[in-house]
Amino acid sequence: MTQNWSGAVAAPHTPSSSQSGQLHSPAVTIAHYDGPVSIPKILLYYVFAPVADPEAVRLWQRELCESLGLRGRIIISKHGINGTVGGELEACKQYIKRTKEYGPFARLPEFVKWSDGTGFADEAPLIQHGQDRTVPWKKVVDFPRLSVKARDELVAFGAPDELKVGPDGVIGGGVHLSPQQVNELVEERDDVVFFDGRNAFEAAIGRFRGAIVPEISTTHGFIDAIESGELDGIKDKAVVTYCTGGVRCEILSALMKERGFTEVYQIDGGIVKYGEAFGNDGLWDGSLAIFDGREAMDFAPEAKVIGRCGVCGEASSVLVNCADPSCRARFVACTEHGDGEKCTEHGGRVDARPSALVR
Ligand SMILES: [Zn+2]
Ligand SMILES: [Zn+2]
Repeated sequence: MTQNWSGAVAAPHTPSSSQSGQLHSPAVTIAHYDGPVSIPKILLYYVFAPVADPEAVRLWQRELCESLGLRGRIIISKHGINGTVGGELEACKQYIKRTKEYGPFARLPEFVKWSDGTGFADEAPLIQHGQDRTVPWKKVVDFPRLSVKARDELVAFGAPDELKVGPDGVIGGGVHLSPQQVNELVEERDDVVFFDGRNAFEAAIGRFRGAIVPEISTTHGFIDAIESGELDGIKDKAVVTYCTGGVRCEILSALMKERGFTEVYQIDGGIVKYGEAFGNDGLWDGSLAIFDGREAMDFAPEAKVIGRCGVCGEASSVLVNCADPSCRARFVACTEHGDGEKCTEHGGRVDARPSALVR
């Protein structure tokens, strides 16, 4: 049996000066020193700032994440970085520290949202040429792998050359409001309109009360929606855009202002931060759709259930995928209709068109 005792260095060396005999190394060698109990964490973040060489940043970020055992998704473009990664608490701290050393990402700590990971994955040790090459960091179960990509856009709105970004972020975007300021604005004004900056299926299980939900199934649809003329009636109102963590609204609010929406706001930290501030007691109803395997989350127990099963109409906050493997449609389903249902386009009985999802 090959020896791969990473534990050979597990116990601290006893100084040779301790010949007095008071200090003894333990007789048993421990194969893996687990140290203090580590905590699984997830980071959700973005920074808008000009990146001169996205491909070089991509390679550096990939190496950095691999060396820290982080997994998840990172997108880099000439406009900045957008990521969701998970790993050990200490690895996440190291990641932030190292990433903000790169000038354009210096403001990263302001834009990081921490949350708890589900747990750590069991990983077989990686043995190469008889050496244990396993990264000394544990990996989270929330993300099965690491994906680091360089793209034209951080979010695919289909307007890579329109978005203007400076060292302080997006140029010409909507005014940032804290969750408290959102409520104050609604109290003070009677022309406030919430505008959902997400896909319709996300709004199907949770949204701001009275929000306008554009009938789109990907962010690519937004430009058509705001140019269609159907929204001209809110162009002079106070429009509050919102999305999960705020990154989509950074872009969307700028695109809207450019197209004649005169007073556009966005929520600092998005729905996540608003929900943390007010739970079920604010202007938000229902559950938040998320993408890290947990599917949906509530901000407090007994959140309102606003979704309706696409088959039978029963109240539900569960989103499922169309059972056709080629289909990307998602819709609400009750426990009875959670498995195997397909959208009407794939011969099923669920109308998954954006217009039918929000009811
Ligand atoms: Zn049902
Ligand atoms: Zn389908």
